[in-house]
Amino acid sequence: YTSSLQIKNYPSKMKYCSSCGSKVELKVPQDDHFPRYCCTNCDAIHYQNPNIVTGTIPIMKDRVLLCKRAIHPRPGMWTLPAGFLENGETLGQGAFRETLEETNTEVKMGNLYAIFNIPQISQIYMLFFAEVLREDFGKTPESLEVKLFKEEEIPWQELAFPFVPIVLKNYFADRKDNKFDLKVETIERPVKKTNQ
Ligand code: ZN
Repeated sequence: YTSSLQIKNYPSKMKYCSSCGSKVELKVPQDDHFPRYCCTNCDAIHYQNPNIVTGTIPIMKDRVLLCKRAIHPRPGMWTLPAGFLENGETLGQGAFRETLEETNTEVKMGNLYAIFNIPQISQIYMLFFAEVLREDFGKTPESLEVKLFKEEEIPWQELAFPFVPIVLKNYFADRKDNKFDLKVETIERPVKKTNQ
């Protein structure tokens, strides 16, 4: 591995200290190795670290449950249920909650199947297998439509995010020999200039 850490890969820009409201500046604090937003007035150092996105691959027999997004980004596109881990949650609890919020059904959580590094946007995706127990799923404020798809029915051209086709292709390939090893991959994403 080589370190690709760069100053520009900050998740969000900060102008003012959230403790005292004074201006912050980006600098390397004493005895540190990376630039941080440091308050010019109080002693606050505002550390920013990657966000974790947790979700599921909900399965019922030979079909996978997908959600048509009702919200930005990518409204109208299909995705696997996933979202940001909340403070105090375990990965599994977060994945279960996101699945319930996006599909309206309570799944039975299974093993971790895929981890994606997305360093350009400082996000880590963690996807678990989940069993769809009941056909009580349906649309929610976050999903226009929630539907089970066989492999040949997957809307490949209408998938919302790069991780979705990767997970689905791996899953359908692994299903042929019924062996589902954990996948760890890195997704390269172009960084929008407006975020820099
Ligand atoms: Zn301050």
